Amino acid sequence: MTDKKTQVKTGLELLREPFPQEMISKLPKPTTAQTEEVKKDYKKGERCSICGQWHHPKVVHLDYVGHAALTDRLLDADPRWHWEPLALGPDGLPALDKDGGMWIKLTVLDMTRLGYGDAQGKTGPNATKERIGDALRNAAMRFGAALDLWSKADLHGDDDKEPKTPEPKQETPAPEAPAISNEQLKDGAAKIKAELESAQDESTINVILKNNHAMIEAIKVRAPKWWNHPEKGTGLLPTMNARINEINAFEEQRNSENPFDGEGVQGNGK
Ligand SMILES: [Zn+2]
Repeated sequence: MTDKKTQVKTGLELLREPFPQEMISKLPKPTTAQTEEVKKDYKKGERCSICGQWHHPKVVHLDYVGHAALTDRLLDADPRWHWEPLALGPDGLPALDKDGGMWIKLTVLDMTRLGYGDAQGKTGPNATKERIGDALRNAAMRFGAALDLWSKADLHGDDDKEPKTPEPKQETPAPEAPAISNEQLKDGAAKIKAELESAQDESTINVILKNNHAMIEAIKVRAPKWWNHPEKGTGLLPTMNARINEINAFEEQRNSENPFDGEGVQGNGK
């Protein structure tokens, strides 16, 4: 009865509204070959400035909407929305197909559409949660939710193929680049270097990368050797990797120390 806000979309129409940028996350999509390469030798990977994870430098990222943002949108469209598995197995739990995927029925405003999700390589209890989230995203896409992101993702094809021209930065072409002066670029690099060198744990490093994303992308484009100078072994990337190694070595040492060898015990007793 409250049709004052005629401009505001509701119901099924609301599901088609694009998501605001801050609700869109970056999902690394490594090929099988990239994953194997880094698994064999972790130094083949790098700390990614886009998603903060450790992976092969040429991994492509996809935009996706997280579970919370999608649930929020579904609730706004229809507080009574629900999903159920398409089939149950003999144990009474949602049935999985031979690939470990699950079909679901998503109902919004009495309209039901099917969706399919898999565990995206996750294992254990996280696999189930991932499967549900993935199936919901897929079914909600059939209602038009985040459709623009899906069409972009489809362009990248299947994940077992190497990208033809590996250009992971394609989606984020550093739009801020022209706005950053050379002086600012230099200051930015120095500041990031200092922050990385003083980071005490890996999560701080991830925060530094995320907070300085635009600057790092600009550095990679305009002064790639400040990011990584392979001949000299200098740059922000080697600095960060060295710091991560130090942090890990310190952690290892601390974990291996005898917990009873605390304060008050000086020297080795000889
Ligand atoms: Zn990444």
